[in-house]
This record gives sequence, structure tokens and C-alpha cells, in this order.
Amino acid sequence: MRRHVNIPVFVPHLGCPFNCIFCNQKKIAAPNGVVSPEEVSRIIDEHLATVSDDAVVEVAFFGGSFTAIEQELQEAYLARVAPYIEKGRVKSIRISTRPDFINHEILSFLKFWHVETIELGVQSLYDEVLKASCRGYRVCDVFKACHLIKEYGFKLGIQLMIGLPEDTYERSQGSACIAAQLKPDMVRIYPTLVISGTRLEKMLISGEYQPLALEKAVAISADMFLIFNYYDIEVIRMGLQPSEELRSEGVVRAGPFHPAFGELVEQEVFRRQGEKLLSEGLNLSYKGEVVFLVNPRDVSKMVGYKRENIDFYRKELGIKVKVKPCPLIDPDDIGMSFDGERIDKILSRTSFLQDVQRICHS
Ligand code: SF4
Repeated sequence: MRRHVNIPVFVPHLGCPFNCIFCNQKKIAAPNGVVSPEEVSRIIDEHLATVSDDAVVEVAFFGGSFTAIEQELQEAYLARVAPYIEKGRVKSIRISTRPDFINHEILSFLKFWHVETIELGVQSLYDEVLKASCRGYRVCDVFKACHLIKEYGFKLGIQLMIGLPEDTYERSQGSACIAAQLKPDMVRIYPTLVISGTRLEKMLISGEYQPLALEKAVAISADMFLIFNYYDIEVIRMGLQPSEELRSEGVVRAGPFHPAFGELVEQEVFRRQGEKLLSEGLNLSYKGEVVFLVNPRDVSKMVGYKRENIDFYRKELGIKVKVKPCPLIDPDDIGMSFDGERIDKILSRTSFLQDVQRICHS
């Protein structure tokens, strides 16, 4: 299989007339100022020098609202990528933007310049949450933008945030269910962090805002991850990239920041799936040892960070669980064995996901 390589170009806050309460793009993405079109070529060259010729390369303009930048500058950026596309060195372009900066004219322009994927910073599909975060658009704008993007044949990405003011557990789940109905090609889930210099920081200090605890953020994200799994929509990232800037002292003031947030979420999903398998496959009185057989790829997710899942089964259910890699088990499935060799029962991810349907239809 050909390797996929993403070349990120950050265009922080550029052209964005908004001031979302959680955003301080300058601090997160580019402390050294705005990237120039010339620098785009340099960034691409630098990356290409380390990438094999047969890799599938995509240039990704991230960090702001690309289509809100003045069109001349958008064109200057995109024109810098065009020669690489013509030579076949870069395959496509990805941009991220706001739902209210999408229309026919913008989409025709992006199509002309070889943009293939548009990621929308949707954040929530509840007007109350969007309003409280000063996003400046409504849910109906998101629907319009998503339909139009798909109509034009772009790949659609949706970014959602959890833990914003006015957000609740139910609304996060609801946002995931509604987003799934919009049939995106990919999704990102970000827990809200309080970044210094933002209005959210002021709200934190005044006591108006309480961030999610890490454990809760992981649990909510796990529910959303399962919803997207059920609808066969790829979750390409959970949690912000732990960049150097984000990890610098004083940047994240509060909130569920963890450098391996996505891993924690997947570990939580395995824990729940394992718990269900135990409840289906064991007598309540069983207190012996059980071996979980998982695909070699999934061992660390099944065991958990610092053996958290194993400890959970022991402490909460009184069951001693061991985990063994088994190539016969498909990724995301869990097999149960009493002797560590014979597979006595399997709970596939597909079967485990059956409950999700109920969540989205309730
Ligand atoms: S629209 Fe994007 S770049 Fe602009 S303030 Fe909001 S989050 Fe930041």
C-alpha cells in the first residue's frame, strides 16, 4: 500500500473576523506569525525531501478559516501548490474553514485549484452551544454548507468540540448523531481546552466556565467515537495535536489535555467492549481467570494505559483478566478464552455497536 503523507501549512486566525471564546490560534498554531505564499513552497519542498516518490501526498491548510481569507491570498497559497500537483508530486489539497464561509462561488474556486477535502469547524449541532461560544453561525448554516460541499463532490470533514459552554453530555451525543446523518467522510473530535488569552480563560477565572475533567471527556468522546464507528465514518483524530506550542508552559490553562487523548478514548472503548463480553460470557459467580485474545495491533488498547483496563476488571468486577495477542482475531474484536488457547467466545465490534443504534434513535 502507498504511504499517505500530509504536509501541514498553518494559516492561523488569518482573515478571521470572528473571536470564538475558546480560540487563540496564534498561540496554538503559529507563534512565529503568518505564513507567506513563498513559505508554502519552502514547507512543501522541505517535506518532499524526506518523502519517497511513490507516497500519496496531500497539502493541508489548517489552523484558521481558509475561505475567509481574502481571495487574492487564498489564490496565492493555492497557486504555490499547483505546480507540485501538475508534476504529480502532490496529489491533493485539504483546507479547513467555517460553515458560513461556503457558497457556490467559493466551492467553484476551490475545485479549480485542486482542493479535494474541506473540513468544517462545526463544533456543535446545537444553536445554544454555537451562540454561547460566539461562533457566529447557526446549525442551519452547517446543514447548507455540508450539502453543498457534497454536491460539488468534495470530501467532507466535520470537526466537533465537546465541553463548550452550554454543551452537555446529551448534546455531544446528539451532535455526533446529527453529524453522522450528514454523511461526512471523516470526523475529528476535540475536547475544549482553556487557552491563555481567550475569553474562555476569563470565564474560567470568574467561575462562569468549568472545563470537563479528563475522565469525562474521554467517556463522552468514546460514545461519539462509537456512534461514528456504527455509521462507518472514520474518526481521524481525537484531541488536539500536542504541539510544542500547546505544551509550552502557561498555554493550556485548564481542560482535559492529554498528549495521547485518542489512545485513551480507544482504550475506554475496549474496556467497555470487554465488560460486555464478560457479562455475556460468564456466570455472575465466576471468579477465575479469563484471557482476552485480541489482534496484535490492539493489545495496548485492551490492556490500557498503566494497565487501567486490567485493574478495572479486577477491582470493579472481581475478575482477573489477562490479554494475549492473537492474529486470528480481527482488529477491534475481542475473543475470550478460559485456557488462553481455545477461543470460547468472540464479541465483534459490529455486534458491540448494536446498542449505538438505540442512542441515535432515542
Ligand atoms: S472561526 Fe476559527 S479562527 Fe476564527 S476565531 Fe473562531 S476558531 Fe478562531
